[in-house]
Amino acid sequence: MNYNKKTVRDVDVRGKKVLLRCDFNVPQDKATGAITSDKRIVAALPTIRYLLENGAAVIACSHLGKPKGPDPKLTLEPVARRLSELLGQEVLFAHDVVGEDARAKAAALRPGQLLLLENTRFEPGETKNDPALAKALADLAEVYVSDAFGAVHRAHASTAGVAAYLPAVSGFLIEKELAFLGGAIADPKRPLVAILGGAKVSSKIGVINNLLEIADTVIIGGGMSYTFSAALGGQVGDSLLESDWLDYSRQMVEKAKDKGVELLLPVDTVCADVFAPDARSQVVPAGQIPEGWQGLDIGPETVKRYCAAVADAGTVIWNGPMGVFEFPAFAKGTQAVAEALSRTGAITIIGGGDSAAAVEQLGFADKMTHISTGGGASLEFLEGKELPGVACLLDK
Ligand code: ADP
Ligand code: MG
Repeated sequence: MNYNKKTVRDVDVRGKKVLLRCDFNVPQDKATGAITSDKRIVAALPTIRYLLENGAAVIACSHLGKPKGPDPKLTLEPVARRLSELLGQEVLFAHDVVGEDARAKAAALRPGQLLLLENTRFEPGETKNDPALAKALADLAEVYVSDAFGAVHRAHASTAGVAAYLPAVSGFLIEKELAFLGGAIADPKRPLVAILGGAKVSSKIGVINNLLEIADTVIIGGGMSYTFSAALGGQVGDSLLESDWLDYSRQMVEKAKDKGVELLLPVDTVCADVFAPDARSQVVPAGQIPEGWQGLDIGPETVKRYCAAVADAGTVIWNGPMGVFEFPAFAKGTQAVAEALSRTGAITIIGGGDSAAAVEQLGFADKMTHISTGGGASLEFLEGKELPGVACLLDK
């Protein structure tokens, strides 16, 4: 897949109407509907400001939540208000996506003005990537800019379909994701070390498989490591175990050997008598977890080895916590790896929603080269899949 895509800097937007796909899928308070974090709105500001300052009339759109049709609880109107406060200028709002209100307001929009359309998922054609909806969206504007990295793995009308009808380029958020995530996968500074963890093998099958193709070292931790351990004949007690994936895990161990990829598995584990923050705990060798106990973190000897492996890496890609980091008593492995990443001279790339949360919660966010903002999208990236919302953009 080509990650070298045209950006807003490569098109002339002056005097043009620009349809800008944002990721305004913000978390909301269930009771009041209030926006509980405006991080995604803030993240969109650089591209919006650039377009406005360069004389574009900007028609922004986004989905919010998963409505089945129009749903007043999931209107983007509060986002328009917050965006207006952050930008310090009026944000017009259309009460539909491609209906009369949107068409009239888009037609009247002047350079330097900003219009936000209603939730794209109020249109049933959005998730079906209906060409009629894509065309109707395209008819509002002259240029399409995508900056919704969190949605590029979806082939929807506003994330991919619309690009068939307009010159399509990326905004600054997607540009950065492609430079770092794309760069790490397509042309990494070596050695490339991939650290994979998180809950389940089954949710990371494609990631493990693809990274064994491209990495020099693959490190396994977290809940998924117990399925590997069991596959190699270890006792895992009550740890997370996916018995349907034992064969797959053995195949991955074989694949690493065939490819000459160094595969590191835990040598010890911190196990607990119950799944609770205040559980009793003990350190045992990997594959020797007593009956009734469950592994919730990598052990201290494993931590030493994993930290040593990233010390002289050229690039480190990290997806998936090393343990149940939400419980402070079982966050040590994740914390130590995050700290090792903060000290290495390597390019450090974090992908995955919980991994990004862990790095932030543990206070290492500003020490990483790049933390991907798209949970699902960054995983599909690491799987080496073609992302419809990226593939549809013009190549440089
Ligand atoms: P990401 O969102 O970064 O891709 P995942 O969703 O795969 O990561 O995994 C994150 C979750 O994995 C965390 O909630 C964490 O508590 C859980 N986890 C990690 N190690 C274990 C373990 N040993 N047992 C149970 N759950 C675990
Ligand atoms: Mg997750």
